[in-house]
Order: sequence, then structure tokens, then C-alpha cells
Amino acid sequence: MKKIILITGGSRGIGAAIAHLAAEAGYAVCISYLHHRAAAEAVVAAITQKNGIAMAVQADVAIEEDVIRLFKHVDASFGPLTALVNNAGILERQARVDEMDSTRIQRIFATNVVGSFICSREAVRRMSTRHAGKGGAIVNMSSRASHLGAPGEYVDYAASKAAIDTLTIGLAKEVAAEGIRVNAVSPGIIYTDIHASGGDPQRVDRVKASVPMKRGGYPEEVAKAVLWLLSDDASYTTGASIDVAGGR
Ligand code: NAD
Repeated sequence: MKKIILITGGSRGIGAAIAHLAAEAGYAVCISYLHHRAAAEAVVAAITQKNGIAMAVQADVAIEEDVIRLFKHVDASFGPLTALVNNAGILERQARVDEMDSTRIQRIFATNVVGSFICSREAVRRMSTRHAGKGGAIVNMSSRASHLGAPGEYVDYAASKAAIDTLTIGLAKEVAAEGIRVNAVSPGIIYTDIHASGGDPQRVDRVKASVPMKRGGYPEEVAKAVLWLLSDDASYTTGASIDVAGGR
């Protein structure tokens, strides 16, 4: 079966690392991007230069019409999806809860939770044997923050990732008999640009002493766990979450 993967938010950071590894593993790769068109095109160019198959589609995962258009684009260009990585995610400037306005948690849940939900629904509609699909695998990007709570930094983001953990478990059970596996990866602190959105671009180096392994992680280390969960080597693994967090 032709391996076709959609990675949301794949223009940079962890999503881009997943895109490169997936191409090396023989997937036709679609990355979606929100604003960073040049970066998305650079990921596609790097993959195609190595004789891989890739394309980039602009889509905001928080907007249902965008997601529906994105999936139709994959259908038309590549064929039936076999893997989805719900990677797109946001956090906002570090703050205490009494400094946060309520629109912020709505924005964060719209991308991190609602976006993952809509993309998963579209994937299930294509992959499930109930809909004449041939099965597939979904990986959701959680965070160690879902267990640690991120006090004083972003409890709203941590709560959104806890919702992802529960969505992973429920969805995994719901579609387990329909040929679809659903798992999560929970990164610790990884060197990416997301920390600049928190107003703390040096966050990884600032807190790495609190990590048992005494270092931050790299996007490629997260991508390897994602690729394993998507692979047939994980054929009896569903509803699971793998920490990639240096023991944090
Ligand atoms: P990043 O900011 O580099 O990547 C996030 C990507 O998601 C970007 O490409 C961004 O454009 C995209 N995106 C954001 N909102 C979107 C939307 N509405 N629609 C479509 N795309 C959207 O950060 P990253 O660290 O690579 O983050 C990837 C995932 O890993 C996120 O879900 C994040 O929460 C999670 N994560 C990161 C860390 C870390 O330390 N870097 C730790 C735990 C979890």
C-alpha cells in the first residue's frame, strides 16, 4: 500500500523534522502550514531534491473549511491517507492565570484541541474500514506539560495538551477495530521556535538543568518516536503516549 502522510504545521520545528524522516521512510508527504510559506516550500524542496515526494498546503487547522480543503487536496494529489500527525500547536506569552484573558485559552484550544479533533475526524472518515478505508495511524502531539501543569507559564496550554491525551485514548478505543491506531508523543523541552511565542526564546537552555538528562531535546529525537508509532513495528500499540523528555 502506498504510504501517504499529512503533517500539520510542518514548515518548521518538530513538524519539519517529522516530514524529513517520513520522506526517508518512503511516505509521500503533505505538510500544512499557517503563515510560513517560504519555510514550507524549503521543506518540500529539500525532500524532492532527495527524490522524495512532497507538497505543502496552506491551512489553518482551527478553521473547519480549511481542514476539509486540505484533506481534499491530499485525496486528489496523493490518494488515500495512511498516516496523520496532528503536530500544529501554539502557546502564548508566559503568564500567571490571574493575568490571562479568556480569549487566549479559546485561541489555544481552537488550534491545539479543535484542530486535532477536526483533522482526526477527516482522517477517520478516510481510513476506517467502516467507511471502506484500508486503515492507518494517527499520532497526536501532546506535551509533558499535560502532566506537569506549567504553573506560572501557561496552564492553558498544559490543559489543552491534557485534552489531547484524553482524545488520544478515546479515539484509539473507538477506532481500534477499524484498522486505525491512535497514539501520542509527549515531548519535554525541545529546541524550536515555539519558545519565542512564550516570550522566552532561551527557555530550553534556561531550564535544562531541571531535566534529568541535563539537556534539551532536538526535533529529530521527537520525530523518531513519531515514525516508530506510525510504523508496522508498533502494530499492537494504540492509545499509548511516549515521553520524549530526557526523563522530565
Ligand atoms: P513551532 O512553533 O516551531 O511549530 C508549530 C507549527 O504549528 C508551526 O509551523 C506553526 O505555523 C503551526 N501552527 C500553529 N498554529 C496553526 C494553525 N492554527 N494551523 C496550522 N498550523 C499552525 O513549535 P514546535 O515545538 O515544533 O511544535 C510542534 C508541536 O510540538 C506543537 O504541538 C507543540 O505544542 C508540541 N510541543 C513542543 C515542545 C517544545 O519544547 N518545542 C514541547 C512539547 C510539545
